[in-house]
Amino acid sequence: MRPDAIIVGGGIGGLAAAVGLCRRGVRVRLYEKSGEFGEVGAGLQLAPNCTRILGHYGLLQAAIGLGVVPERMRMLDALGGGELTQLDLAATEQRYGSPYLVMHRSDLHRLLLDEARRLGAELVTSATCTGYENVAGGARVAFADGRTDTAAVVIAADGLHSVARPLLIDDEPVNSAYVAYRGAVPFAAVAENEIFAHDVVVYVGPRCHFVQYPLRGGEMFNQVAVFESAKARAGAADWGTPDELDAAFAGKCRPIRKGLPLMWRDRWWRMFDRDPIMRWVDGRIALLGDAAHPPLQYLAQGAVMAIEDGWVLSEHVAGGGPAADWDAALAAYEAVRTEHCRRVVETARAWGRLWHLDGAERERRNTILRSRDPYDYSFLDWLFGPTALTPEQEPELFRPIALDAAEA
Ligand SMILES: Cc1cc2nc3c(=O)[nH]c(=O)nc-3n(C[C@H](O)[C@H](O)[C@H](O)COP(=O)(O)OP(=O)(O)OC[C@H]3O[C@@H](n4cnc5c(N)ncnc54)[C@H](O)[C@@H]3O)c2cc1C
Repeated sequence: MRPDAIIVGGGIGGLAAAVGLCRRGVRVRLYEKSGEFGEVGAGLQLAPNCTRILGHYGLLQAAIGLGVVPERMRMLDALGGGELTQLDLAATEQRYGSPYLVMHRSDLHRLLLDEARRLGAELVTSATCTGYENVAGGARVAFADGRTDTAAVVIAADGLHSVARPLLIDDEPVNSAYVAYRGAVPFAAVAENEIFAHDVVVYVGPRCHFVQYPLRGGEMFNQVAVFESAKARAGAADWGTPDELDAAFAGKCRPIRKGLPLMWRDRWWRMFDRDPIMRWVDGRIALLGDAAHPPLQYLAQGAVMAIEDGWVLSEHVAGGGPAADWDAALAAYEAVRTEHCRRVVETARAWGRLWHLDGAERERRNTILRSRDPYDYSFLDWLFGPTALTPEQEPELFRPIALDAAEA
């Protein structure tokens, strides 16, 4: 039977969209190029604007059971190790009505996969989409093995290197020259280290940062080490290698030096985003998740935005499956999501620059952050507040800190 909606990509974005659409009575067929559904075995932070949606989907309690609701988010200086500022996450939950949660990626992925399947989504693996085309009354996708499929709407949730994106713009991923190393390990491996076992911690330093948080009810511990690659800046092809990791974090504070040997060294993630675009919809073909707005991950909002995208689109699908007015739904989706995600992508870049400052600018940043009221939410309301369904609901943009406003 012909589905109402085809989703290409079985990452967190595609699966969450499948859940949202199935809940609105849409018949979904999802295609994934890999032979099996899966995610990398590292951690993911889910802010209240995401956990609120998991709550709408009836998945929040299960997610909490699989993850950790941390007590605090702390920002520390990577050189001296001292605390710069923090967020009380219990108070944050009260303010936004939903928790800040950290989870193992594969646990969230599995939760969404199981729910999509339970709701009747048809899930197809080993299907590499090679082309998208609008046709009368819908859109068609073509696959590497010669198959095609057609539906009233096609959602391209196929990630950073989306095959659908060239329908909307001729652009390339932007190389940040930063690289991420990850490592999720049993808690016992870090028990003797200097860690905050119940908190999300980021050490910010010149051209680098280091993230730590617990996973799986505290049984595991997640670390992410991010740094600017000198080799990338010099144009070398083999950039971000482990020797650069060690050099980037030499001389940083002891908790980082203790954590560093636990990073996985056989793989690393070069960090790309794309310049924001304000059109995601071409006829009945729509981009979603990283295909539309891949960010640098400094705000921890990439997967979160992808989940919001699917929820917003689903909320605009009136009438369910065959009765849905897809043109209206896609127009409403594009009207609200493009602007929000533009802000996130651009703010993530600015946030990264702030984290990675050196010299006098770093000192000034630290002075400002140390004097920050930890219960000041003016930076967070636009992000952690309820996901807007219309442009009118979109909250005011946070105002970036003016660095020269502080006493050095
Ligand atoms: C180090 C790091 C830390 C991060 N931390 C966070 C965090 O804490 N919180 C957060 O919200 N985000 C975080 N992110 C960002 C987040 O991981 C991504 O934004 C998110 O996973 C994007 O999901 P997606 O489903 O849109 O894309 P992807 O995860 O890229 O999924 C795309 C899927 O489509 C499939 N696919 C691709 N091409 C095709 C094709 N042609 N045909 C069929 N299938 C195809 C792929 O196999 C894949 O399964 C982080 C990213 C990094 C690198």
